[in-house]
Order: sequence, then C-alpha cells, then structure tokens
Amino acid sequence: MPLDKLNRTLTKVNRTLATVNRTQNTVRNTTNQVKRGKQERERNQQKQQQNAPEEIPWTCKCGAQNITNFCGTCGGSPPVCPNCNIIIDTPFCPDCGTPPSTGV
Ligand SMILES: [Zn+2]
Ligand SMILES: [Zn+2]
Repeated sequence: MPLDKLNRTLTKVNRTLATVNRTQNTVRNTTNQVKRGKQERERNQQKQQQNAPEEIPWTCKCGAQNITNFCGTCGGSPPVCPNCNIIIDTPFCPDCGTPPSTGV
C-alpha cells in the first residue's frame, strides 16, 4: 500500500525533525553558556582591576620612599586614611581631607 509507505516516511521525517530541534536547542544552550562565561570573565576582570592594590609611592617617617605596604628600610607602615583605607602621601587625604594615621 502506497499510503503505508508514505506514513512510514512521514514518521521518519518527524523523527529527523525532532533530532534537528534537539540539536538546535543544544546549540542555543551552548551559545548561552559561552555568553554567560564571557560576561562572568568580564565582570571578574573589572573586579580584579578594582581590587588591585594601587602602587602609590609614599614617604616613610624614616625618609625612605616605598611603594609596598611596609617600609623597606625600617619596616614602618605607610600613612593611611582611616576613612578611605588608602595610602596617602599628602598631609591630608585627597578624598576626604582626614589626616593620615601612620597605623603603627
Ligand atoms: Zn621607614
Ligand atoms: Zn580619606
């Protein structure tokens, strides 16, 4: 019967279509994952840039110039703004005007 054959062919076509749909979904999911991963990477990069310690040169009370968190000559701490928690090399914090605490 030709109709029977036609029906079988239709079933086969439908199965193939289902496979194609599944493949499309997989591709879409993978694309979304790739997009998400890219966004997360970009977010992480921004975070790292914000958290990166700024190498501000500061003058120790012993007179040595340092860019690290402690004086390489006497081991003293840099002047830090108690409000902003940043190293400052000026008599007052450039952000809030508070005099630095040497944090000894
Ligand atoms: Zn020092
Ligand atoms: Zn401050």
